[in-house]
Amino acid sequence: MQRARLASRKSSVQNTVVEVGGQYFGGAAFPVIAGPCAVETQEQIALIAEGVRAAGGGLLRAGAYKPRTSPYDFQGLAQEGLALLTEAGHRVGMPVVTEVVAPEQVPLVARYADMLQVGTRNMGNYELLKAVGRSRRPCLLKRGMSSTLEEWVMAAEYILAAGNPNVVLCERGIRTFENYTRNTLDLSAVPAVKELTHLPVVVDPSHGTGRRSLVKPMALAAVAAGADGLMVEVHHDPERSWTGDGKQSLDIAQFAELMVEIRAFLPTVGKTRQDAVAESITPELVTRSASGRAAAKATHW
Ligand code: PEP
Ligand code: MN
Repeated sequence: MQRARLASRKSSVQNTVVEVGGQYFGGAAFPVIAGPCAVETQEQIALIAEGVRAAGGGLLRAGAYKPRTSPYDFQGLAQEGLALLTEAGHRVGMPVVTEVVAPEQVPLVARYADMLQVGTRNMGNYELLKAVGRSRRPCLLKRGMSSTLEEWVMAAEYILAAGNPNVVLCERGIRTFENYTRNTLDLSAVPAVKELTHLPVVVDPSHGTGRRSLVKPMALAAVAAGADGLMVEVHHDPERSWTGDGKQSLDIAQFAELMVEIRAFLPTVGKTRQDAVAESITPELVTRSASGRAAAKATHW
């Protein structure tokens, strides 16, 4: 990692802490970014924002510009989606994270978003990385699905070199021969990247596995591996999600359960919780989650 002048661990023994709207990545806290794959409607994003907040989520995520495999699939609500996301998140006191896919869109997305996401397909889009670097908005930089750790860290270097020190890395799984899972979540990347850089690293077990049943075990494993936070897809009605990512999305009750388990686990790795409102989840909120399972669960709260 000789060439990573700014991102290299050699340039700083101290870990970088990235602040996003009162949430801190890389310190003793453990911020959880949660929300749907895409903004669909005002009602959808508002309901999920409330649920995520009540369960103790720290930042709200959702895409307004979706990089889809097929041009015929839902592409996102674009600027209208940005406005709906920011309104829903800020109304419940959560900063928002959303993907930017083109360099010329960075100023627009940065006007709405507290944190810019660079997705796996764009990790090597160097003009986009430079534009994100110029914007100075904190950036969540996902690992390219076929990228080595060195390529990923050098992508972060582009953003740092353009003047933006606020980069959080996100391991989201890589392509392997295995196809039972959507990707192979490389949890060894977490401690490895911490040896190589001083930047915070979070884990996305949703895209990392593609399967709802694997999200919780991999989220807990990410805590154990030393991650600085998580990104989890949450939808109030995953079966009716407008993108294919419903299969990997938790409903609101499942997300609340996950948060309870994470919270119990954090002290063992020296992390503290940062979710003062976690106890405010109510049976009503869980019941409003559309799935039958969520409604049944609500009776236990
Ligand atoms: C997403 O976060 O919805 C997304 C498209 O992620 P990735 O770039 O990791 O596929
Ligand atoms: Mn998604």
